Amino acid sequence: MHADVIVIGSGIAGLSVALAAAPRRVLLLSAGRLAVDGASHWAQGGIAAALGTGDSVEFHVRDTFDAGVWVGNRAVIREVCAAAPEAIEWLVNLGCRFDRQHGQLHLAREAAHSHARIVHAEGDGTGLEVMRAMSRAVRQTPGIEVHEGVTAQALLQDEQGHVVAVRCLDAMGRSCVFRAPVCVLATGGIGQLFTYTTNPASAQGQGLSMALHVGAELADLEFVQFHPTALHPPAELAATKLASLPLLSEALRGAGAVLVDATGAPIMAGIAGGDLAARDVVARAVYAAQMHGGALLDAREAIGRDFPHRFPTAFASCMSQGIDPRVQAIPVVPAAHYHMGGVRTDAAGWTTVSGLAAVGEVACTGLHGANRLASNSLLEGLVMGRALGDQLRGMTLPSTSSIVPDSVDTFVGEWPQPPCSMELRSMMWRCMGLRRNAEDLRIGLRRLHDLMVEPPAGGPALPRIRLMSRMLRAALARSGSIGAHWRDDEPDAAVAALNPDAVRAA
Ligand SMILES: Cc1cc2nc3c(=O)[nH]c(=O)nc-3n(C[C@H](O)[C@H](O)[C@H](O)COP(=O)(O)OP(=O)(O)OC[C@H]3O[C@@H](n4cnc5c(N)ncnc54)[C@H](O)[C@@H]3O)c2cc1C
Repeated sequence: MHADVIVIGSGIAGLSVALAAAPRRVLLLSAGRLAVDGASHWAQGGIAAALGTGDSVEFHVRDTFDAGVWVGNRAVIREVCAAAPEAIEWLVNLGCRFDRQHGQLHLAREAAHSHARIVHAEGDGTGLEVMRAMSRAVRQTPGIEVHEGVTAQALLQDEQGHVVAVRCLDAMGRSCVFRAPVCVLATGGIGQLFTYTTNPASAQGQGLSMALHVGAELADLEFVQFHPTALHPPAELAATKLASLPLLSEALRGAGAVLVDATGAPIMAGIAGGDLAARDVVARAVYAAQMHGGALLDAREAIGRDFPHRFPTAFASCMSQGIDPRVQAIPVVPAAHYHMGGVRTDAAGWTTVSGLAAVGEVACTGLHGANRLASNSLLEGLVMGRALGDQLRGMTLPSTSSIVPDSVDTFVGEWPQPPCSMELRSMMWRCMGLRRNAEDLRIGLRRLHDLMVEPPAGGPALPRIRLMSRMLRAALARSGSIGAHWRDDEPDAAVAALNPDAVRAA
């Protein structure tokens, strides 16, 4: 097949690009099954859009900019927030069945949103429903050729440095190369680089590693969002055995559940915003409580017997770990949840390398600044993905054959990458987790340097080590604390965070 575009990743970002680019010929590569192995499928809360009475794009822009601690890209924020209502309509037309009340979309309210504006489905099953509708549309679109079980290993460039092909491993472990004039990374996040994460197994940062390998600029790598409430499994199901921890959505605290320490004392008492304070503030408080005996989310009084029907996904997660949240407080731990940083792109999704675009969580458009506003990431994948697809549909692209034989592939590298080892995950958790300082970051960098100089046989793949090293260096270079980046050796706010009004007016 002649292909115009290769899209790597079948979450909301990848599917949005593919659908909008049609009738272009798109090769859609997915490491797992279409639409089910990424974070999009797991999304609970929903998608933010200013649709409610009294709400406006202006308010959404302001909330996004404020949550990002005033370092986000205002042009991108405006573009994404303004496109949100129409993007929701597009999903409805694709067949997405969002929750409704009296015939109207029901809008939920989440922390740091000034208005109720979260469109959701099946209560806390939004990702599942959105991916169902989008993947059905993809299967019905003739120009899109889906390759499931195909893991991209490396981007290949021509002599001018233009990305022209992708080296992959197929489901049988065979090497293959796909060729097209444009390649779009839509590979999701990096949560699996940390001991505790809410992210699926696919979030290994492979897209970032591949982009780094071909010289693409990466941005804001130090901005990793930690969610305050992942379910902490009992000792017999230690986190080391669970690659991903179930998420307990903020909506539980929105419904009145309270965070308490091991003695039952409220963790957030006396802290501005209480249990609904900004995500990074709550996450650090939970982390501190965990260091001193443990942290629990107590939903017994506020939600109690309503738990199963109000929060079916969270209820099932708790029960699968032997915890009945109707009668027990739920042990929680903060966990790596979202990467605000990523492959630097312009407002249209193009990276600094010719022929290479990036969209969704793997990209850094500047939308989220130093902290992501809840329910803005599905939105980003949807809006930026569709905009990029629209652009690709209208572009003149050179014609190429889609598959080239291995013999023309001159790539020499250290692939494939095994899943991240627990040793490296705990190093990242210790050095690059919720609290950082120069000493720990340097210890981590030395360990990575040793691994680069003398990689152990069968040990961690070098591209990942390089990526981790970039992340630690970014955290070391960012002096001061801002948003999700907390330096306990430099707790004072970084300059931009001190004067929001001046930044907003600039
Ligand atoms: C538990 C949970 C709940 C969340 N809830 C919400 C929410 O309510 N609202 C919200 O806005 N955000 C939420 N988020 C964040 C949001 O889900 C993600 O940021 C978003 O879905 C990312 O979409 P994506 O398309 O960029 O990546 P993903 O959906 O993660 O998709 C990545 C795709 O890339 C593929 N891939 C990765 N590497 C390779 C490779 N080398 N080769 C081939 N394919 C590859 C994967 O298989 C997958 O198909 C949540 C996240 C989690 C983990």
